[in-house]
Amino acid sequence: MYDDVKNIEKLFSLDDKELLALADETRRKYLGDGVYLRGIIEFSNICDKRCAYCGISADNTLLERYHLSSEEILKAAGHIASCGIKTVVLQSGETDSLDDDWLARIIKEIKSSCDMAVTVSVGEKSFETYKKWKDAGADRYLLKIETTDPEIYSGLHPGMSLENRKRCLSDLKMLGYETGSGTLVGLPGQTVRHIAADIKYFNDNGFEMIGTGPFIPHKNTPLQDAKAGDVALVLRTIAVTRIVMKTVNMPATTAIGSMDRDFRDEALKWGANVLMPNFTPVPYKRLYEIYPGKRCISEPAGACAGCMEHLTEGAGRFIDWSRGGSARNEK
Ligand code: SAM
Repeated sequence: MYDDVKNIEKLFSLDDKELLALADETRRKYLGDGVYLRGIIEFSNICDKRCAYCGISADNTLLERYHLSSEEILKAAGHIASCGIKTVVLQSGETDSLDDDWLARIIKEIKSSCDMAVTVSVGEKSFETYKKWKDAGADRYLLKIETTDPEIYSGLHPGMSLENRKRCLSDLKMLGYETGSGTLVGLPGQTVRHIAADIKYFNDNGFEMIGTGPFIPHKNTPLQDAKAGDVALVLRTIAVTRIVMKTVNMPATTAIGSMDRDFRDEALKWGANVLMPNFTPVPYKRLYEIYPGKRCISEPAGACAGCMEHLTEGAGRFIDWSRGGSARNEK
């Protein structure tokens, strides 16, 4: 039914009430009312890439760069575990200077000392590097495609290729990672048909996690004057993705919590089932500025873990403290 872009696009023509009801019913039927937590550590903002929308792009020479030590990362991971959260996400900019063996040692150390799933999100790497991290114990990998439209993609990613990003995602699936991708909603030139095509690509490839967030313009990027993504369209995209992909895990992203108000409670109602409290140590948190206005950058690491309960209950749901793997694999 959803092997045709047109059928996915048709879902976008449902009115808000119908779309919300269908997405909410699908989420409840396939996943229940639990909300999974993932503690994120943004361990470095060093990046070689020049993505036109991104505040930590190599071209932003005004940004102070940082890289956490192994000790700082392990301490933050221990903090996440002590809060009862069973997934750590290790995210950074993408750089050839990242030492693969160093990261493999960190993954091993976390896996041996804490009962947690490890998600890695450090960009495009070779099959061999992805294999090294999988062998070290990594469970999941996040690599958003942002858009599957070749023209929009090439206009925003100088020196990168859509084919290589797709190759990476296919390698990750082949290696047995729970694989995450997603769309940046509101990119210049993007239409609902493009977004429907992204969802078809995610569904065809059986990805287990999809992150959908609004594009938010950053003043030190070429897209500084572009319009931000429309929250209503982000919510509708989450809903359509839920209806098409059923069991997929989807965060109410920090980006959707960083608009003129926090829309994460709405995202939970429109089909999301994951929240991602931030455990990056405070002195560095504000430097991981992929977009402006990011939530809670001056609060102590992990402080938002407390407000997750509040947010979840407000949406009529509860926190599920399990690892929250893909419903197709583990629980
Ligand atoms: N380097 C890794 C990668 O490429 O997947 C992970 C880090 S990257 C900064 C994480 C995500 O930030 C990107 O996938 C993108 O969707 C998001 N992002 C970057 N700039 C953004 C912006 N201006 N507005 C909203 N999201 C943005």
